[in-house]
Amino acid sequence: MPNVSKYIFKIQRFSIHDGPGIRANLFFQGCPLSCIWCHNPESQKMLDSKKNSDIQSVCDALMETIQKDLIFFDESGGGVTFSGGEPLCQPDLLFALADSCKALEIHTCLDTSGYAPFSILEKASRKVDMVLYDVKLAIDGTHRKYTGQPLGPVFDNLTRLSDQNTNLLLRWPLIPDITDTQENINGIIEFVKNNTRYRDINILPFHKAADGKYERLSLKNKMGKIQIPSEQSIRKTASIFKFHGFNVTLNG
Ligand code: SF4
Repeated sequence: MPNVSKYIFKIQRFSIHDGPGIRANLFFQGCPLSCIWCHNPESQKMLDSKKNSDIQSVCDALMETIQKDLIFFDESGGGVTFSGGEPLCQPDLLFALADSCKALEIHTCLDTSGYAPFSILEKASRKVDMVLYDVKLAIDGTHRKYTGQPLGPVFDNLTRLSDQNTNLLLRWPLIPDITDTQENINGIIEFVKNNTRYRDINILPFHKAADGKYERLSLKNKMGKIQIPSEQSIRKTASIFKFHGFNVTLNG
């Protein structure tokens, strides 16, 4: 039996937040970013790629679990979402899973930060039915400060996916005082409108569900003092995106 949890640190069945219908979310281990608001800090540690020899058996074991929910996918128009961490950090497993799902006509979503070589992102985007693409911060300095990585690849890759007509939903985490500033919102709207064909955006308001996790893992929670956004501020921010022609959905 392969050690699936080394590759996929969590399987969340019956999710209704990350793509259409009822979904099985597979959370991939490893992420090149270190967003200070991350709800899955345990996902960030990268795998040692040299040891990933049992991809097919991991894929087979995961497909066994996934297939238990086929009836729910069929009834709800749901499927499987590859999330993380960053699924593009384990391309071989991602491609194997996407191919296996396609063979069974299971709808697939790739939930990504977009921070990856374009060749891998492009190949993945052709294998899945839909890409959920994070746009967090529109200014390079703040992107580096709050995620640990430069902005360039994220925006460049988004532009290139748009040029290829990839079916894509933008996702924007609303983090008070960090992403939810007038300057950042304006920057995101301007970039997306000027460089892409995408106008559907899913706003993900910050929540405190990960606080306990930071404590359990003895990790420093830099968001400890940040409060969850009020309903009013969420509505106000959503209305700015709507005013600029975006179709807005909330909470996945
Ligand atoms: S991209 Fe997602 S998983 Fe990676 S650090 Fe940021 S919030 Fe966490």
